[in-house]
Amino acid sequence: MPALEFRDVEHFYGATPAIKKISLAINPGEVVCLLGPSGCGKTTALRLAAGLEEPERGTVWIKGNKVAGEGAMIAPEHRNVGLVFQDYALFPHLKIGENIAFGIRDLSNGAREERISSVLEQVGMQDYAEAYPHMLSGGQQQRVALARALASDPTLILMDEPFSGLDARLRDAVRDRTLHVLKKTGTATLMVTHDAEEAMYMADRIVVMRDGLIMQTGTPEELYNAPNSAFVAEFFGEVNRIEKTVQNGRIDTPVGQFDANGFAEGSDVEVIIRPEAFRLQETNGVSPGPGQAKILASKLLGRSSLIHMCSCETTGEEWHIHARVAGRYLPPEGAFVSLELDKSQAFVFPR
Ligand code: ATP
Repeated sequence: MPALEFRDVEHFYGATPAIKKISLAINPGEVVCLLGPSGCGKTTALRLAAGLEEPERGTVWIKGNKVAGEGAMIAPEHRNVGLVFQDYALFPHLKIGENIAFGIRDLSNGAREERISSVLEQVGMQDYAEAYPHMLSGGQQQRVALARALASDPTLILMDEPFSGLDARLRDAVRDRTLHVLKKTGTATLMVTHDAEEAMYMADRIVVMRDGLIMQTGTPEELYNAPNSAFVAEFFGEVNRIEKTVQNGRIDTPVGQFDANGFAEGSDVEVIIRPEAFRLQETNGVSPGPGQAKILASKLLGRSSLIHMCSCETTGEEWHIHARVAGRYLPPEGAFVSLELDKSQAFVFPR
């Protein structure tokens, strides 16, 4: 039985549709990330799961119980979900232990104290029960917010951009610990992020959203290796985009030929190629031949090198192409290289 399920859920703010008929299920123990650009409806989906919004159409289910839609509307505090929002929302006048106790008031004194120490220990904050929130760093506050969400042993944790208030180094550490805690406790989680790398780091499955719709759902690997649209492909890192028209049953690009499988003669397509799909080999040519390119600039970016190239076609069309190569590889400006393409990292979509 899914920890959370949306069945054909729709939600509007006034006349503006924020969620257009989405269906989604999260299994027990699964970490699912909602990923998409600003305004695509991620936070609204989370608020619908939490009970902070009511769907206009469709139903929301938590562990097999209908909690919203078709006349049902269970209040947030009765859904057994833990919330972790961007600003952590700890009560400033309550000590850390008291902040956590707040959500588990129904437990006996002994059981409550035990639970508080157990969740604080899980997030590595066992020495801070007597501290006040202002005495804690942002990362520590985020860990307390997670402990508070875990305290009631929820069916599901909902997290909205939980790491966005943290600086980059701290974010990596907090993200890492959060994932360990979620996996160790086996808590189903729905997390919102606009950062694809973060989604790939955290998620068992990613749900990519756009304009209130789900574009694609899959494991990070499925989305990376088999995106169903240019939008999804582009969300997982920079890509090269070459616009072409199908001619003679083929798509000819300066970096290779593609089958026109499923595309009609004369139809406009875009070829999306990840920068890491190229293998480069320097040639001694003085002008570029087919499948060759001229180096415009080479930059070392730490663990990889980014190479800017210009591919000149016989038609005179010029394409600016980026290649990314592991390690240090900096061919000189003006040199010619031949390009070998790993087609598993190239995708053709209709334009
Ligand atoms: P972000 O990443 O910027 O937080 P999001 O993907 O979480 O964006 P939502 O906050 O769910 O997107 O918003 C979806 C759409 O609904 C947007 O067009 C937004 O402007 C609109 N919207 C959100 N909240 C309200 C509200 N309270 N009243 C009216 N419109 C709203």
